[in-house]
Amino acid sequence: MTSLQVDVLAFGAHPDDVELGCGGTLFKLARQGYQTAIVDLTEGEMASRGTVEERYREAEEAARILQVTHRENLKIPDAGIENNEFNRHKVIEVVRRLRPSLVFLPYPRDRHPDHIHASQLITEACFYSGLAKILPHLSAHRPRRLVYYMCTYEFEPTFVVDISQEFETKLKALQAYRSQFYNPDWPGQQTFVSSRWFMEAVEFRARHFGYKAGVEYAEPFYVRESIALNDIFPILNQNRM
Ligand SMILES: [Zn+2]
Repeated sequence: MTSLQVDVLAFGAHPDDVELGCGGTLFKLARQGYQTAIVDLTEGEMASRGTVEERYREAEEAARILQVTHRENLKIPDAGIENNEFNRHKVIEVVRRLRPSLVFLPYPRDRHPDHIHASQLITEACFYSGLAKILPHLSAHRPRRLVYYMCTYEFEPTFVVDISQEFETKLKALQAYRSQFYNPDWPGQQTFVSSRWFMEAVEFRARHFGYKAGVEYAEPFYVRESIALNDIFPILNQNRM
């Protein structure tokens, strides 16, 4: 058991969700000196391509590329993520151990049921993690903010993060998943995410949200609360309209 604490913890339903949704932002935070971690809920064992062992190796390589301090897997069944007490306790245990200020997680409306259930499970567990009488042997901790990243379906973002300098590294982290994404050398069957146009769509989306903010590439995020700014001039006085 590690005594590691992190600033930012990104949850994914499957290994590669975090890289797709917020890989550029996670890398940016690491470069800015923040400690980052990734926790995958499942091993992705129901994927049409690749084995669990391959997926672990790929996830480890992607984490290294994004300069993530720590990555672990909660081994909740793939295609069967349930928001039940057993799984909430798993999430609470890791939140209380890593004690992040910010938690990144999938947006709750999505194509993949696992992403929907993961979002609900993590949202509730992060709240309950602040209640001392739940699992009282572990010191309570509630992250300050939940930050939802985009999976398949789009939403109107609360803010976007400029990843123009980080986009190339995000792509490298995605390419580490040789069994999952576009790879003409892979002999297995084609899937939704392994097609060439899926990887192109990753780029188009980053360009689209970047374009709207006046930068080259950006990742969109949603938070439920208002964000109060103090020093608005340097934030608003940048990029173009
Ligand atoms: Zn996924």
